[in-house]
Formats: sequence, structure tokens, C-alpha cells
Amino acid sequence: MFKKILVANRGEIALRIQRACREMGIKAVMVYSEADRDAKYVKLADEAVCIGPASSALSYLNMPAIISAAEVTDAEAIHPGYGFLSENADFAERVWKSGFQFIGPTPESIRMMGDKVSAKQAMIKAGVPCVPGSEGELPDDPVQIRRIAKLVGYPVIIKAAGGGGGRGMRVVHTEAALINAVQMTKAEAGAAFNNSAVYLEKFLLNPRHIEIQVLADKHRNAVYLGERDCSMQRRHQKVIEEAPAPGIARKVIDKIGERCATACKKMGYRGAGTFEFLYENGEFYFIEMNTRVQVEHPVTEMVTGVDIVKTQIMVAAGEKLPFTQRDIVMRGHAVECRVNAEDSFKFTPSPGRITMWHAPGGPGVRVDSHIYTNYFVPPHYDSMIGKIIAHGDTREQALARMRTALLETVVEGINTNIALHRELMMDAKFLAGGTNIHYLEEWLSLHKG
Ligand code: ADP
Repeated sequence: MFKKILVANRGEIALRIQRACREMGIKAVMVYSEADRDAKYVKLADEAVCIGPASSALSYLNMPAIISAAEVTDAEAIHPGYGFLSENADFAERVWKSGFQFIGPTPESIRMMGDKVSAKQAMIKAGVPCVPGSEGELPDDPVQIRRIAKLVGYPVIIKAAGGGGGRGMRVVHTEAALINAVQMTKAEAGAAFNNSAVYLEKFLLNPRHIEIQVLADKHRNAVYLGERDCSMQRRHQKVIEEAPAPGIARKVIDKIGERCATACKKMGYRGAGTFEFLYENGEFYFIEMNTRVQVEHPVTEMVTGVDIVKTQIMVAAGEKLPFTQRDIVMRGHAVECRVNAEDSFKFTPSPGRITMWHAPGGPGVRVDSHIYTNYFVPPHYDSMIGKIIAHGDTREQALARMRTALLETVVEGINTNIALHRELMMDAKFLAGGTNIHYLEEWLSLHKG
């Protein structure tokens, strides 16, 4: 096992990885930007290295600075967390070439999944169902583009092969709008992702977002840890996640889960990964694979009892998965609310000093957050400041615990979206379960518009 790992991230996930290291008896080196100098996980770290100024481009995305920090501290491996460099194949390659282990899949796997066209092709080959659409990149010829769209059937969505974070997509309802939409998406994709390739898919009208968590080792073992329902989204950003997905039979999940695990074995995938699907009328349609730990991993940890971050570290060190598929049992239900430093209903970011933080607790309640009273939320990064997770024997119990937890939570000095979560936890449709990916935005325009 490793003796020392460098954590190339910040905020709650940096703290989450530090905790996993401590539990495993591994020293964690924390890196930080000047804006994160006062973070408690930095102050309490075994070792900490400043890697640059506040701007992420000069710090958390600064590959040479991160690799030199690993060199000077004699770390053996680098955990990239999520966001920042976590899905950057060039970074993973540089980590390997500098003689460190990258805690994640191979650069080849990251590269293949980072290009959505090659990811989809790999999935089709591995027997994972995809959204019907163009086979690969769209050609330039308008006649051929129109023929493909007609075959798929309107509405269609044009998506950038290199897209991410909900950007580089355009929905097209009629043939008249098609060619212009393709050209605009191509131009935007070229500018934003340095890759103008686009592809076309059927636009599903009312799907849910269901994803499958996988873990795989270097010895071609792969298991799936059930599913998460992440349909409660605003602007393609997840707000609430839960496991299991309400109303979907276990055998339906098992069937798609087995396909995902088999695909991992076929692709020689290793580490943690998530297969994201749209789910409509009882069918799963693959949209993308994330080759890293996800924000919402705790709901899966709560229902399976598997520590995903520890397992990532174990398999990166070459160990075998410590469980087989048969050992994975889902117990009860878990729900996660992402706490953002932003106005609850206007969504304007609200960085600044937290004058009072009181965390919730009690049975089944978990708080993953790096904040504390007097912590200054820097304006330079993502607005998420933590996550509240509640587990119960049933969905009702998990939601009741979440309601209690949200009532106990106090954050003063900045605005947060806790008021939004409190209202959503009382909403009849959400409580019934199974809302689709448009529900939250519809709810917002109805109640807050
Ligand atoms: P990104 O990598 O930018 O997050 P995804 O491919 O994961 O892109 O898609 C993001 C979101 O866009 C999905 O969660 C869904 O809300 C919507 N979306 C993507 N493809 C489709 C589709 N074919 N039909 C309907 N909605 C889609």
C-alpha cells in the first residue's frame, strides 16, 4: 500500500480523500491555492504545499506545480478528486511519466470516455444501450445530416464530442432549423473544447437521469454498486441525488448494472467510474461515462457500505477488489442535498465569510463539508460548500431524517440554497418519487418564477 498520497483538489472532496488516507494509515499531502491557505484540512494536514495563486488555471489546473509538489514531498500517488484535472488524460499521462501512480483509470480510458463519440462507440461494442443517433461524428454534407436526423426522428439534440458540464448541446425540433444548429454547435465546440466534432441523438422528452456506479481493479474484476437517481437538476447541474432510484425494479437495475460491469472488463477499465443513462419508458440510454469519483458517491456508500474512495486507492495500488458482486447488497435508502453558497431561489453566488456554521447530526446523517465558523468562501471556485446525506431503512425515513437535518443546519453570513432544499423535501411530487430531469426547473418557474 502507498505510504503517501498527494491530493490534487480542494474543498469537501479534498477533505474526503484526506479522511480516507488517514483511515488507511496513509499520509496525505494537501495542495492549496493562496485563496485556500486557511482551509482547516490544509492547516491540519500532514503536509501542505502552496501551488499558486487563487485562479484555478494557475493552481489546481497547474500540472507542473502539482507534479513538483509530489516530487518535493515524496508522494507515491496522486488523487485528482472530481473536476479540475480529474478527467484530463494528458495530466494522468504526465503523472505516470513522472513516476507516480494516478488514482484513476489509464490515460487511454480517460481519453476514450472524454470523447463522447468514441465513448458511445465503445459502449455499443460492449453491449451497453445508447440513445439512437448518428453513428459517430456528423458528416459535413447537409444532405447526409438531414437524412440522419430524419431517420432518428425529431426532436434531435446536437452534441459536441468534447463537450462537458452541460455545455455544447443544442435541441432541434424541425428540419428547417437543423443545418444552422449543427453549424453553430460546431463553431462553439471548436472554440470551447478545441474539437469541432459533433454528433446527433434523439432528444428524449421526459427522461430520468439514472447512473450506475462501478469499481474495477487491474485484475479484470469489476462490480456495480447499484444506481443513483440524479434527476433533480437545474441547468444540467445535479441538486439532489438518491439511491436506489424510486420505482425501478431491482432486476431491471441488475440487468443494466451487469452490462456496465461487463463493459469495464471488456475495456480493461480500472478504478471508480459512473455510467450515466437517461431512463425513459423502462429503457436505459447511455449518455456518458465519468472516469472519476463523483460528488454524489456518498449515497452509494450509505446504501452499500462500500467506501468508494478507499477502494479507489486500493485498486490504484494494484490490490484486488475486496468484494465480489454477490457481496454487494443495497440496504435502505439514502438522499443527498448539495449545499451551495448561493441565493436559494435567484441562484446568484454568495461567497464571503461564514459567521456561524452549525452542522446537523443524529442517526443516519452524514455531512461532507470543509466549512467551519469564520471560514471564508472564496469567490474563485464552484459554489458547492458541502453535502448533507441522510440514510434510512426506507425512502420515507431517509427523507424525514433529511428534513430534520435541514432544520438543524445553520449557515450565517452568506446565502445558501438550504431554504430551497427545505421546500423540496416537502414537495408532494418529489416525495412520491420518480420525477424527471425537467421537474426541478418546472417547479422553480411555477413556485418561484
Ligand atoms: P455533459 O457532459 O455536458 O454533462 P451529458 O451528455 O451528460 O453532457 O448531458 C447532460 C444533460 O443534457 C443530461 O443530463 C440531460 O439532461 C441532457 N441530455 C443529454 N442528451 C440528451 C438526450 N439525448 N435527450 C434528452 N436530454 C439529453
